[in-house]
Amino acid sequence: MVCGRWRGGRCIIARLLQPDRSQPITNPTIIPRDQHCISRANISNAALKVLYRLKDAGYEAYLVGGGVRDLLLGREPKDFDVATNATPEQVKETFRNCRLIGRRFRLAHVRFGREIIEVATFRAAQPSPDAASSNGQGMILRDNVYGTIEEDALRRDFTVNALYYDIRDFSVIDYAGGMEDLHNGFLRLMGDPETRYREDPVRMLRAARFAAKLGFVLSPETEAPIAALAGLLGEVPAARLFEEVLKLFMTGHSVASFEKLRHFGLFGQLFPDTEAALATEEAGFPHTMVLKGLENTDARVTSGKPVTPAFLFAVLLWEPVRLRTRQYEAEGIAPYAALQAASSDIIERQLGRVAIPRRFSTPMREIWTLQPRFQHTKGKRPQRLAGHPRFRAAYDFLLLRAEAGEADQALADWWTEFQGQGEVGDASSGSDEGEKPRRRRRGGRRRRRKPATGGGGE
Ligand code: ATP
Ligand code: MG
Repeated sequence: MVCGRWRGGRCIIARLLQPDRSQPITNPTIIPRDQHCISRANISNAALKVLYRLKDAGYEAYLVGGGVRDLLLGREPKDFDVATNATPEQVKETFRNCRLIGRRFRLAHVRFGREIIEVATFRAAQPSPDAASSNGQGMILRDNVYGTIEEDALRRDFTVNALYYDIRDFSVIDYAGGMEDLHNGFLRLMGDPETRYREDPVRMLRAARFAAKLGFVLSPETEAPIAALAGLLGEVPAARLFEEVLKLFMTGHSVASFEKLRHFGLFGQLFPDTEAALATEEAGFPHTMVLKGLENTDARVTSGKPVTPAFLFAVLLWEPVRLRTRQYEAEGIAPYAALQAASSDIIERQLGRVAIPRRFSTPMREIWTLQPRFQHTKGKRPQRLAGHPRFRAAYDFLLLRAEAGEADQALADWWTEFQGQGEVGDASSGSDEGEKPRRRRRGGRRRRRKPATGGGGE
């Protein structure tokens, strides 16, 4: 699995032993340049600039985390993270284009155009898990004690994420048997897994995400505590969970993420109402709808098309909305009012878990509440619906419902044909974010603008 050149390998005993996190590891395995496949040609120029500038300023600087892991697997990294012994303030002094962020975990962001390189100072363990730095459950609230690279390696989550690429000699430094685990497709949390999950419950989501993205399996001791500790995710700020949901579902492996999350009992922590709906009707429509929606999302990401969290969340939460709408209707509320009320309820409940910014929750609600309007295919109503800013996303959503067997396929076909007649613009990119309605120009021909007469400049 790892690029062919690495021939090293720790003995099996070393691999099975957990690194003792109370002691920095002093005998790392060094994999020289000619025994691994990381080439500077595959590292972004921005990351290289940061590494070289820090080195030239007299600091240690390493590429670390997903960048090293993914390059060793022959994959294109999502981003590049740098670790250094320079403090955030020293990093800021070294780069003009630098901003310091984060409280819990203070970081420097160095920006080059659209690319941001995250530069983290080596972390050490907290001197003691005092009340100021962790909560009563062992959760780390602040993690800003700086240390050495050896200490930093132990603060990271999985062994495969604790590999350091040294810009001085282009070697890879392996403190925790990460190369071996990478080779074998293992995700292994360093240290005592239960303690590590308690320190930061998001590590459970990260385990599911990397398992999905890389096709790795969790080592038994890494997997074992998750079922019992999943509930700790309830204490993670909803805004952080939103970010994690995007990484799980919007980076091209959402189907695998969904399956892993459900397998580990984590999905219900993020989407409790959806989980309840799926659990009762496992084989039926809701499951199909979610899976088809996620498959579409993955296909769009893979082919470079835009995707929006509004559509994703609309798919994930539709079944709870539908069930709640039915309840309201049974209580005698008119269908459209029932759908509106159900949408509000489900959004409010969901925000308690995962923060959905308004710029996504508003269009999500529109995608739902436009659905009944597709029933009307007579007179001027189709044309009016087609002019709605959210028409295309809502139409895509209708197709998905039809594909999953919940909406009438003939109705979906009618709308496809309606657009084929040139009544509305291209519907193929239905779920694009921030789409504007295509205004029809009145009066046909474009008027020629008068040439600007700027007052005799030249
Ligand atoms: P990707 O960027 O592909 O999602 P990544 O492994 O680079 O994966 P990041 O979130 O970018 O993930 O984090 C960079 C590195 O920081 C990780 O590889 C890991 O070493 C460390 N790290 C990130 N989050 C945690 C955490 N919650 N606990 C411990 N270490 C972490
Ligand atoms: Mg990363």
